[in-house]
Amino acid sequence: MTTAETPTLAQRSVDLVITNGLLVSPDTTTAADIAVDQGRIVAIGAPGTLPPARETIDATGLHVIPGAIDVHVHFREPGFSHKETWTSATQAAAVGGVTTVFDMPNTNPPTANVAALEQKHALAGTQAIVDYGLYGLIGEHNLDQLEAMAEAGAASFKLYMGSENPLVPCPPDGAIVEAFEILARLGLRCTVHAENTPLLAWRGDKLRAAGRTEAAAHLEQHIDLAAVEAVSRTAIFAEWTGAKVHIAHESTRHSLPHIRFAKARGVDLTVETCPHYLFLTTDDGARLGDNFMRVKPPVREPGHAGPLWDALLDGTIDMLSTDHAPHLRSEKTRDVIWDCAPGFPGVETAMVLMLAQVSRGRLTLGQYVRMACEAPAKAFGLFPTKGVLAVGADADIVLLDMTRTGHITADGLHSIGNATPFEGFALHGLPVRTLVRGRTVAVEGRPVGTPGWGRPVAVTRT
Ligand SMILES: [Zn+2]
Repeated sequence: MTTAETPTLAQRSVDLVITNGLLVSPDTTTAADIAVDQGRIVAIGAPGTLPPARETIDATGLHVIPGAIDVHVHFREPGFSHKETWTSATQAAAVGGVTTVFDMPNTNPPTANVAALEQKHALAGTQAIVDYGLYGLIGEHNLDQLEAMAEAGAASFKLYMGSENPLVPCPPDGAIVEAFEILARLGLRCTVHAENTPLLAWRGDKLRAAGRTEAAAHLEQHIDLAAVEAVSRTAIFAEWTGAKVHIAHESTRHSLPHIRFAKARGVDLTVETCPHYLFLTTDDGARLGDNFMRVKPPVREPGHAGPLWDALLDGTIDMLSTDHAPHLRSEKTRDVIWDCAPGFPGVETAMVLMLAQVSRGRLTLGQYVRMACEAPAKAFGLFPTKGVLAVGADADIVLLDMTRTGHITADGLHSIGNATPFEGFALHGLPVRTLVRGRTVAVEGRPVGTPGWGRPVAVTRT
């Protein structure tokens, strides 16, 4: 068939049309239909104007948004499959309206070389029902591996600037600067766990030596200063090397002036925060158990969540991620705080928590789309293939029913480690269907995708 004979879109049928929905972008809400063919959005038009389709989804009364992109998840395989597998985790993501995830490298073995990256690609590639990027680890002894990992498909890199985990020790500053120089050349963003390791180690040793075993000791160890200093140092190192950096899980209001200062200087620095810092304070220990609350960096005392919300809405904090870190309940409820596993599952609950706030008027759906879809896509080289409803983009689409209500329960989550701190939270607005590249992967709270449908993302390096 010659080009002249190729049927126009209006003449041929497409795979799928989503009709009568309200399409939400950061700036507009529009009544429009979406045509999808071969996994991509091929047309957006006024209701009733798109070509015939083999499948039609009626979105009357529903809002239509891009799938959320969560650039900070721990899906636990290889090494910790009693907590989570790529199957359970991507089912949780799909039900939660998340269509792309970036998985962290603190698995066992750590994702610190090409062989480990390929091992994880094999695990994800046969199980995932959503798309994924894999982080490579920056360590003291693998700097000569970074370029090879990038060539093998590492979507980004993770620096544990604050770490007591022997699997992923914090490299010395010399190695960090050299790693930033390499990543600046490779054009990939580096996500940083920004805490000061010597400060954590010194305070941790003293607290343990003093026999402290209660939850407050964890907070005293992870003093705000540890985060503030590391955020500032990350920004300065990025400024001097030209690296693009991303601050993981911002937890304290005291970092915000330093983030604003770095951005004002032109440092290519993006920032995320997570629902547990927006919705919880140390006071929730009374409800959940003080030791259960353990997460790094810690959920802090009242007074931080408000400024973090403000910063997220004004763009000082660019995006929402989850730091999805599932554990068994038994691992989070031990008597000695140092033995309690840090972190919470989050990939399935972030969107519904935020939709409840949309329903309360705390933010708009457009603001949510910016922080959960567009901003992560732009920061990590996925835009405009992902993070936006536009012709040419992947058909990663979530249908929302903003009239639905419900409650979060651990038993209702799809993660193996389902010990959520949001048990009982009231919901108003739920995702009712999730599509990844045009295929439905979750509907009405049930995962339905074919294992292995998820694909590694292609990152544009800049
Ligand atoms: Zn994490």
